[in-house]
Amino acid sequence: MKKSTSLQIVLASRPQGRPRPEDFRLEEVAMPVAQPGGVLLRTLYLSLDPYMRGRMSDRKSYAKPLNFGEVMVGEGVAEIITSNHPDYAVGDIVLAQTGWRTYAASNGAGLRKLDSALAPVTTALGVLGMPGFTAYTGLNLIGKPKPSETVVVAAASGPVGSLVGQLARIAGARTVGIAGGSEKCRYVVEELLFDAVIDHRAPNLASSLATACPAGIDVYFENVGGAIWQAVLPLLNTFARVPVCGLVAEYSGEHETDASVTLRDTLTKSLTFRGFINNEFAEEHYPAFLRTVSARIADGSIRYREDITDGFKNAPTAFISMLEGRNFGKALVRVTC
Ligand code: NDP
Repeated sequence: MKKSTSLQIVLASRPQGRPRPEDFRLEEVAMPVAQPGGVLLRTLYLSLDPYMRGRMSDRKSYAKPLNFGEVMVGEGVAEIITSNHPDYAVGDIVLAQTGWRTYAASNGAGLRKLDSALAPVTTALGVLGMPGFTAYTGLNLIGKPKPSETVVVAAASGPVGSLVGQLARIAGARTVGIAGGSEKCRYVVEELLFDAVIDHRAPNLASSLATACPAGIDVYFENVGGAIWQAVLPLLNTFARVPVCGLVAEYSGEHETDASVTLRDTLTKSLTFRGFINNEFAEEHYPAFLRTVSARIADGSIRYREDITDGFKNAPTAFISMLEGRNFGKALVRVTC
């Protein structure tokens, strides 16, 4: 029998500090309908990304905050189950802004067809999707690593950090990852082939990082902020580049950094800081990214890892786990209802 309802997860309250399960609400709603010229999508996989924490706050940012009762934003991999659109057929698998919904209607704008023969469809949410593109553009257009320079990146086992390190290694740089816990650290050096790794949960972060970077740091790809940024700052070489990509340690309002130290070093070392949101580069660089990274996944020189939670209803707890560093690889939800 055809389903008549769909599930969605909405913002129930603004988190103070780290989000809690009560900040989300699961709702059962009428099944959306494909409009004339549009499609109906069944979500197969939902992406969980750190930026979603920002949308839950009303702090001024580059994107509008969610209002109470609004569906959590996000990308999904979805199957087309009804099509009134000439470019899409029932059964097509697409990348879409589904939000945290089990079914979603779309007018077709912004959908991207996926071909599972080229790569597993989940990669469109990770290494061959927005996080991968973020790594590729932030590193190549802002970091610009040169052979034998030292490149440091934190959250190094995640979808952004893991690709940053692997692309930097391919460019001939010395790569130093920072990750939480021994299992992630082992993966970073043994599987991703970084030159060195630091466990930020172990004591003496600053001295361990200095030992791992005897020639200082030329590119620091900023994913985290907080204590890691404080350890990196004194090691930056003159003319170092810092693509400022994300500050996941600070999204819940913890660990504010010391802005005056940062500014002084920026001046005295002629540092270049450049914040970026990946989509500013999309029009010009997306095709080259897909071509380059897909070929390297196919020949095994770039690896990736996914951390898949089963069950739509488990999205909030999986999201909270990711913000606390308990994901190991790109955080995804397999939508099983
Ligand atoms: P990940 O899947 O790597 O998940 C986040 C990771 O951050 C955790 O697993 C944890 O890894 C680490 N982390 C969390 N809290 C802390 C902390 N206090 N100190 C140190 N590490 C911490 O995330 P992504 O790869 O998807 O994203 C990485 C960064 O890139 C984020 O800041 C994100 O917001 C940003 N981003 C920016 C984009 C842009 O366009 N500018 C686009 C996409 C992402 P561990 O256990 O190893 O510490």
